Amino acid sequence: MNEYDSELVRSILRKENYEFVSKEQDADIVMLNTCAIREKAHQKVYGRVHNLRHDRGDKPVLIGILGCMATNLRQEIFEDRSLKIDFIAGPDSYKRLPDLIREAVGEGEKPYDVTLSEFETYSDVTPSRKDGINAWIAVMRGCNNFCTFCVVPYTRGRERSRSISNVIEEVEGLAAQGFKQVTLLGQNVNSYRHEEGDFADLMDAVSRVKGIERIRFTSPHPKDFPDKFIALMRDNPKICKQMHMPLQAGNNRILDVMNRTYTKEEFLSLAQKMRDRIPGVILSTDIIVGFPTETDDEFEDTIKVIKEVEFDVAFMFKYSERKGTIASKKFPDDVTEAKKTERIMRLNEIQKEITLKKNKAHIGEVHTILVENPTNPRSLRDKVGRNDGGKLVTFPEGDYEVGSFLKVRITDATPHVLKAEVLATNS
Ligand code: SAM
Ligand code: SF4
Repeated sequence: MNEYDSELVRSILRKENYEFVSKEQDADIVMLNTCAIREKAHQKVYGRVHNLRHDRGDKPVLIGILGCMATNLRQEIFEDRSLKIDFIAGPDSYKRLPDLIREAVGEGEKPYDVTLSEFETYSDVTPSRKDGINAWIAVMRGCNNFCTFCVVPYTRGRERSRSISNVIEEVEGLAAQGFKQVTLLGQNVNSYRHEEGDFADLMDAVSRVKGIERIRFTSPHPKDFPDKFIALMRDNPKICKQMHMPLQAGNNRILDVMNRTYTKEEFLSLAQKMRDRIPGVILSTDIIVGFPTETDDEFEDTIKVIKEVEFDVAFMFKYSERKGTIASKKFPDDVTEAKKTERIMRLNEIQKEITLKKNKAHIGEVHTILVENPTNPRSLRDKVGRNDGGKLVTFPEGDYEVGSFLKVRITDATPHVLKAEVLATNS
């Protein structure tokens, strides 16, 4: 979402004739688009600002903080004199950036705008995207769920959705530019709702855009997967058979204090329904370990669910207390750091085995992959692509264009990638 928001910011400032430079040292203004979801993200930002100030020495540079940290920690950021921040803009205030920058140059108080809007969806701003095969497109913003651990409802405000026609206009433009894949984004993307239709209607409309071959979405909430959507996903070949289902915890008391609004049993039956109705669907999840008051026995329940569902991939996080959340007010962060580390390591070991088993089960299968640029070209000698389920597939070097489709046979697997031989191009 922040990557997408940075594309919006680029577009807003380019209209005002700001030029974007590739090297940080050449910039007169540096903006950091920040995340507030875990403490680690904050530490990274503080580190980057200190390094930047140190590298610049006496040479002037304006530094702005954008994104969720801006909303959540505005006062602290300004009060920390070592940071010397010049301006602050929250996720709903990017259209005000040209004004904020102008004011920041002056002598007075440092400007900020962290107002949360009930309406802003940036539907009138076309993001300045980098060329590629995938385009992010935010279809809704904000969240109404108030999971007790989560800062998003406070930093990004209430849910609001763009109209289907507005999204389709943008997707048609993307197809004309050569993008093959779009990933629909939202803090709670499947809660998308507009008078023109719900999330299934939106996905259906996007799949009718000529030139777009693959559609993905992130991040959904398990509460919003109606049968209509599951049937569409099964039947529509353009909608990738990949479902992220954040579980967070496998114990009913913890789920309740997290305010997740489902029980372990409901989650298990949803996962089963997905597997029964969408053959070959790839399931992934998010888990938080060490939520306040989580006992060893309650953590064992999470392990049981992980073993029962056998997700293809699981993203795991140690609970990180966030200022302003319900959990931070109601429950002391009482699971020790050592305990959180022990739990996450145990979960990691178990998931690694499951992921390897799931990946090995693909050996011998024929998949269609979309060729990508490797994210780290030095770490992979082979070419890379992704299959429909979103898994990374490597294959021997050859004359294959980025953005083309290949038919491949899976020959081997590790917990991180599938290895393949190419059978045919442009399948
Ligand atoms: N909206 C999605 C949902 O609730 O199903 C998840 C989006 S959230 C921005 C991404 C993930 O960050 C969450 O699924 C959760 O696992 C993790 N997360 C959020 N707040 C956290 C916290 N305070 N400490 C640790 N992890 C957290
Ligand atoms: Fe945060 Fe997701 Fe819960 Fe919304 S649904 S409060 S984004 S974890």
